[in-house]
Amino acid sequence: MLAMVLDRPGVPLELRELPTPSPTAGEVRVTVSACGVCRTDLHVVDGELSNAKLPIIPGHEIIGYIDAIGPGVHDLKVGMRVGIPWLAKTCGECPFCRSGRENLCDAPLFTGYTRDGGYATHAIADERFTFALPEGDDIAQAPLLCAGLIGWRSLRMAGDGRRVGLYGFGAAAHIVAQIALWQKREVYAFTRSSDHAAQAFAHRLGACWSGGSDQSPPELLDCAIIYAPVGALVPIALSAVRKGGRVVCAGIHMSDIPSFPYDLLWEERELRSVANLTRNDGIEFFATAAEAGIVAETVAYPLSRANDALSDLRAGRIQGAAVLVP
Ligand SMILES: [Zn+2]
Ligand SMILES: [Zn+2]
Repeated sequence: MLAMVLDRPGVPLELRELPTPSPTAGEVRVTVSACGVCRTDLHVVDGELSNAKLPIIPGHEIIGYIDAIGPGVHDLKVGMRVGIPWLAKTCGECPFCRSGRENLCDAPLFTGYTRDGGYATHAIADERFTFALPEGDDIAQAPLLCAGLIGWRSLRMAGDGRRVGLYGFGAAAHIVAQIALWQKREVYAFTRSSDHAAQAFAHRLGACWSGGSDQSPPELLDCAIIYAPVGALVPIALSAVRKGGRVVCAGIHMSDIPSFPYDLLWEERELRSVANLTRNDGIEFFATAAEAGIVAETVAYPLSRANDALSDLRAGRIQGAAVLVP
């Protein structure tokens, strides 16, 4: 198989011919048809996350077709269209797994981080953590596997307030905005102050207001979700929510949060993070996405140009989501 491999953080990925792995017990092998590029991949490639298996094949927004199954696989069959998300495996035994919070498992595996992912022509996944999908557009749906799914979890954690602020209008926010609008909520989109293209993009999708993150929204928000990996946005978002409002940090990595006056948290404002996903989030989200007719806006790159896709994401040059096509 062909794969884009990261040998160590800080160096470009390399295109390599590798032996195509065979699925072992409980696993399936997929011929990858599309793999989204997530900001988490950038954190792995740039060394901002320290536990990566190295060398690693990044990528955890995989859509493909099963081409081989290992012993003991019951529910999935060769030829089925499936999605492989970030959560690759959990222990099933720790207090978190046993209490419906497998997203916080003590001994998890993550696709494209601690096990090989989808920047490749083939990928291996545990049957239990693979979503069977109906027919659809592989490129347009690949970003749903993380930007959509973790976006969905972050929206749920933000509560059901009407005025929703989204800080960082990229892959996740442009999907979450569509869900929030479908739920008849108002979306306020915050971007880098000079990024007028992203502000126009948010308007086109139906945001009632968009502007720079240094601007105050015209009304106080009920909740805000921060997708940009910028700690300085935390006090800014807290100052934009009403009493009792909630701020959710949705990314896996963020620069340090500057100190801020207690007044910003006072009056029962809440601040929390969202980590990973549960399989149940996926089941809920894919049903909702189908009902709401969610469509990701994508920029497709050939697999061999993964480094260009990552550079474009790092520089904020992508509208919507980047997707690699083997
Ligand atoms: Zn566990
Ligand atoms: Zn992701």
